[in-house]
Amino acid sequence: MGQRIFNFSAGPATLPLAVLETIQGELLNYRDEGMSLIEMSHRSKTFDNLVNGAEQLIRDIMGFSDDYQTLFLQGGATGQFSALALNLAVDGKLAEYVDTGPWSAKAIAEAKKLGKPYRVIASSADSNHNHIPAEYAIGDDAAYVHITSNNTIVGTQFEDFPDTGNVPLIADMSSDFYCKRFDPNKFAMIYGGAQKNAGPSGLAICVIRKDLIERSPANIPTILSYKIFAGKNSLYNTPNTFGIYVVNLVMEWIRDQGGIDAVEKANRHKAGFLYTVLDSSDFFRPHAQDGSRSLMNVTWRLPNEELEKQFVAEALAEGLSGLKGHRSVGGIRASIYNAMPLAGVEALISFMKEFERKNG
Ligand SMILES: *Cc1c(COP(=O)(O)O)cnc(C)c1O
Repeated sequence: MGQRIFNFSAGPATLPLAVLETIQGELLNYRDEGMSLIEMSHRSKTFDNLVNGAEQLIRDIMGFSDDYQTLFLQGGATGQFSALALNLAVDGKLAEYVDTGPWSAKAIAEAKKLGKPYRVIASSADSNHNHIPAEYAIGDDAAYVHITSNNTIVGTQFEDFPDTGNVPLIADMSSDFYCKRFDPNKFAMIYGGAQKNAGPSGLAICVIRKDLIERSPANIPTILSYKIFAGKNSLYNTPNTFGIYVVNLVMEWIRDQGGIDAVEKANRHKAGFLYTVLDSSDFFRPHAQDGSRSLMNVTWRLPNEELEKQFVAEALAEGLSGLKGHRSVGGIRASIYNAMPLAGVEALISFMKEFERKNG
């Protein structure tokens, strides 16, 4: 086996080595079942225990009470853009969206396409989404407020979450799922695709307050119905069994790190380290404004595109992969999710300093 490199890809993304090793060790024979987990019936007692354990562990790690339920769904986060509009819209009420980047825009586009009444209450589009809007008014009779807690492409993140009173607050946390502590009681639902900070692709995790599940209308597609999936404990049809298994291992890994506070501390250290380098140079130009900077996706430009290409190519030659910015904004993006070790960030920073010395 060749050497593993530091993978800064935005998603699918690097996973904890300990988790990969557990998967490798259990692949042929899952806990003395004589078969791998991916060959096992989703109706088996063993899988049922796994799904129940994962449902609870995900809530426990962040302190979500029994008023909430974790759902494992398919179609990624994109599937939830339509599912949440179909399940949670309310006749005669507006759904409210905060537009902080391309993923917010996709969520909004889905509500629009489905003919749900909505309005965009704030947007940072004017400034190329380089900050999280601070001022916006939430209607006190909205169906829900939707935010994108971390903007994977542009590299911004909510530092504090809005207080929406009695209006259900929904957050797409795909790229900052469990990267820092937050108050679970502020949210009616959080959701995300697993493949950035929690596991493999093809799985959406939703933690939803149970009273909201009652909103699901009967006439929406079964595969998108929160009520049906909640009633069947995410096992209405065959779920992404492998995905749920890996997510559970990643959650156990968070617990073993010392829980969410320990993971947050490490994340703040890694990101702070990188932003300090960006701020102390005129060569590197960070995209996100102070106060809105992501702990997970750090974005910056170089003086010109030629240098950016050269940066990405030379970094790869040093074993630092996935640093090319998203095609819509360009530049460089380093995704430093929970599983990125400090050593990876240190290696990136020494590469950056050397690159600036030679080309600055
Ligand atoms: C990656 C991402 C998505 C899309 O996830 P899929 O699982 O590919 O549908 C949605 N929202 C955010 C914030 C993302 O980072």
